[in-house]
Amino acid sequence: LGEGITAALSRMCRATVADDAALTTCLDDVSRALLRADVRFESVRAAIHNVKSTTNPSTLPPGVDRRRAVHKAIFAELCHMLDPGKLPFTPTKGNKPNVVMFVGLQGSGKTTTCAKHAAYHRRKGFAPALVCADTFRAGAFDQLKQNASKAKIPFYGSYTESDPVKIAMKGIDTFKNERCDLIIVDTSGRHRQEDALFEEMRQLSEATKPDLVIFVVDASIGQAAFDQALAFKKSAPVGAVIVTKMDGHAKGGGALSAVAATRSPVIFIGTGEHIPDLEPFDVKPFVSRLMGMGDLRGLVDKFNDVVPDDEDNDELVPDLTGDFTLKTMRQMFKSVQRVGPLGQVLSMIPGLSARFMEKGKEKEGQAKMKRYMTIMASMTRKELEFTNPSTLMTESRIVRVARGSGRPLRDVAEMLEEHKRIAKALSKLPLKKLANNNNSRET
Ligand code: GDP
Ligand code: MG
Repeated sequence: LGEGITAALSRMCRATVADDAALTTCLDDVSRALLRADVRFESVRAAIHNVKSTTNPSTLPPGVDRRRAVHKAIFAELCHMLDPGKLPFTPTKGNKPNVVMFVGLQGSGKTTTCAKHAAYHRRKGFAPALVCADTFRAGAFDQLKQNASKAKIPFYGSYTESDPVKIAMKGIDTFKNERCDLIIVDTSGRHRQEDALFEEMRQLSEATKPDLVIFVVDASIGQAAFDQALAFKKSAPVGAVIVTKMDGHAKGGGALSAVAATRSPVIFIGTGEHIPDLEPFDVKPFVSRLMGMGDLRGLVDKFNDVVPDDEDNDELVPDLTGDFTLKTMRQMFKSVQRVGPLGQVLSMIPGLSARFMEKGKEKEGQAKMKRYMTIMASMTRKELEFTNPSTLMTESRIVRVARGSGRPLRDVAEMLEEHKRIAKALSKLPLKKLANNNNSRET
């Protein structure tokens, strides 16, 4: 989605005059990008219509930057499309425990997301706990147990009790007594939206009176998320939505906008299978990230301008369009630590922002980068420049680097793992294509 909109805007930026014709072409491109991302046709038509009626380049007074005006209008429209204009319930720390119930079809990612959600809030200072009220699927409790243990979250469930309401009530009581302030109830799903499931959701929410019911939906179903969200809202008081599997799905834009069309606020998006892969969803930053990627090149260029002459430019400016090696990662860390502009760019990269620049955790992120740089200082050039370092880094190499840097083996392994994750996040951005476009324009 981002790629298409970005391309359209940058084509428009390249046009010498931003007149009506350029605007029409640009909007055609933007609407194609939205449709390709599976956004509902009605929404796209409405959005484009609104931009057209609010922005008329030829009538803008002289001195107004026309491209900026178009950019702003598209930004506002995309925000409007994704923003239900309602604030969701947010748990608060204190005496009264918050009860949150997860609902959704089987396989949508409830159990995984429950654990991510618990871990996220524990990082914010909550004392979370997980309750498994899924008695439908064999092995459901084991799966929750496994996820909870991985994230070190207390859990409750039963192998023998078959009534989900009883388990939920017992679990909630248990954790209330243990002074947990965020009790998360995982429920069962079915393959299809069927009466038995909705009846169970209704009974559960009536008995447990949750403060918030979160509907979990898989991004890959695209527009079908609209009907599903409506169906669940009918049987349980759904107050917020989490869209999972946003990593690598072209239909992500479709699922997001479809959910938004039901006027339900999306609070998080799931971006991977691991516990930290959950990102708070805010419409504006999301849309600016979506539209801002095209400026990546421009910002990197600008960055070149602000680097003082006596600095070693090569060391400071990572080439994100080539292979992502450990050396690139080290350059990236260095630049984040030294200057603003590139730091801003890097904060747009989904995998990176969550790991190193999370709000309120900047210090820890910085410390982590510093630790990794110490480790990398003990690595050989070959290791740093190797395309897929995990395959090169044998145990003996890891031991050598750990000794050399005075860091535990675990830190070296963690750094390699982190490198892999960032490389994966970067591989999903249209960076290579951007580089190719730039080259073809030069030749
Ligand atoms: P449930 O049936 O709704 O409880 O779904 P699960 O939590 O068991 O998840 C189903 C599958 O989706 C599991 O293999 C998860 O690892 C995977 N999954 C969940 N969330 C995400 C996500 O955000 N990204 C990816 N790639 N996989 C996910
Ligand atoms: Mg489950």
